[in-house]
Amino acid sequence: MAIGDALGVPAEFQDRETLRRNPITKMVGGGFHGQPAGTWSDDTSMALCLMASVAACGHLDPEDIMRRFADWREKGQYTPHGVCFDCGGTCGAAISRFLRGVRAKDCGGTGERDNGNGSLMRILPLLFFLRGEYGIGWYKMSRPMLEIQIVSSLTHAHPISVMACGIYLQIAEQIIQRGTEEAITSGTKYALAFYEQIPEYKDYLHVWDRIRDVTALKALPEDAIKSGGYVVNTLEAALWCLLNTDSYAGCVLRAVNLGRDTDTTGDVAGGLAGLAYGWEGLPKEWIAALQARPMLDSLCDSYSKVL
Ligand SMILES: [Mg+2]
Repeated sequence: MAIGDALGVPAEFQDRETLRRNPITKMVGGGFHGQPAGTWSDDTSMALCLMASVAACGHLDPEDIMRRFADWREKGQYTPHGVCFDCGGTCGAAISRFLRGVRAKDCGGTGERDNGNGSLMRILPLLFFLRGEYGIGWYKMSRPMLEIQIVSSLTHAHPISVMACGIYLQIAEQIIQRGTEEAITSGTKYALAFYEQIPEYKDYLHVWDRIRDVTALKALPEDAIKSGGYVVNTLEAALWCLLNTDSYAGCVLRAVNLGRDTDTTGDVAGGLAGLAYGWEGLPKEWIAALQARPMLDSLCDSYSKVL
């Protein structure tokens, strides 16, 4: 996730045409944010907040996670250089509500316009908590799906955002167990079978039509894949990149070079590609280029200890 995020940071907001002429092929600095090469952004920082919280509390504590989100935005904690340089609108509004005294579980945006990719981009570490808590059969249970809803809803509480997180983690679980195409099909099926039972989610099942049919999704031309901030587009783009490439590097570079929300498309695609190709599949020079490696390593280490 961090590698895909960091590859995308210097290209954020660039359009596809610009990147076609001058594609990202390695870790570079600069761009809109003017950060050094290897700098990862809000996507990774907010994922680290979840990991640090679970490591400290030993369980999911919504208030503690939100406090860490606030520490990230207000104090630059969980960042490579001590500065939060890219807090999204819906996340920012949720953190502001928390700082005004709203309970953590009521902080997330609930409007149709609150369906940016800001909870999807930080949700992946939750997979390992769910596996630890419920075993590898978690994906057939309701409780873990409700935990996903709680963690998304801290910032993104609309059914579309929650479902994106649920589908993503179900697919991630299946990727650990089987090949990519089969994983996307069965992960999507398990997730939607859960959401079909919940009245307030029923109206939004159709937004996932394009990922239900993995063969058709894979065959879509690049022009049919959008890579802005809308969470449905981000998930589709990440899956499309995974389906149409055969290595970690190929997948994340494809994702980043789609343009616009490059870091988050890279992060979401990179998370799945990391699971698909494993640690050995990550280019060594990209691991070495990541900023603040000691922080990443120590948080991964303390998180894995409580799982
Ligand atoms: Mg970002």
